[in-house]
Amino acid sequence: MGSDRTPTDPAVTEALWSQLAERAAEMVGVAYAPYSRVHVGAAALVDDGRIVTGCNVENASTGLGICAEVNLTGALVSSGGGRLVALSVLAGDQQPIMPCGRCRQFLYEFGGDELLVATSEGVLTLGQLLPHAFGPGDVSARAD
Ligand SMILES: [Zn+2]
Repeated sequence: MGSDRTPTDPAVTEALWSQLAERAAEMVGVAYAPYSRVHVGAAALVDDGRIVTGCNVENASTGLGICAEVNLTGALVSSGGGRLVALSVLAGDQQPIMPCGRCRQFLYEFGGDELLVATSEGVLTLGQLLPHAFGPGDVSARAD
């Protein structure tokens, strides 16, 4: 998995995108979203070949809701870490839904500019969704 990944990277096949969408759809089915009633599921390929998933989890204290993508990064870390390579995020209508700003930042930590994201506008890189991102290098460059 090199750094020259592009949105048309042949390493992520159509079959793999379909598999990610299937897993994301499964997560839509278990999402806990009684307040917004927007059920979201996410699934991502990790650079070691495994797939991690997440769903949104809301709370009666509305602002505490956690997006599917953030829960996915928790699943990534708790299952051994690694780098995210390709991501599918679906809503209850089974169509792609864009990661919100907070999620883009979370995803950047574990996928960087090269992470491929299936959107309603086709496969985009996270670098396209979050240009000029703030990342780990910005912190280490300024630490005492
Ligand atoms: Zn989000």
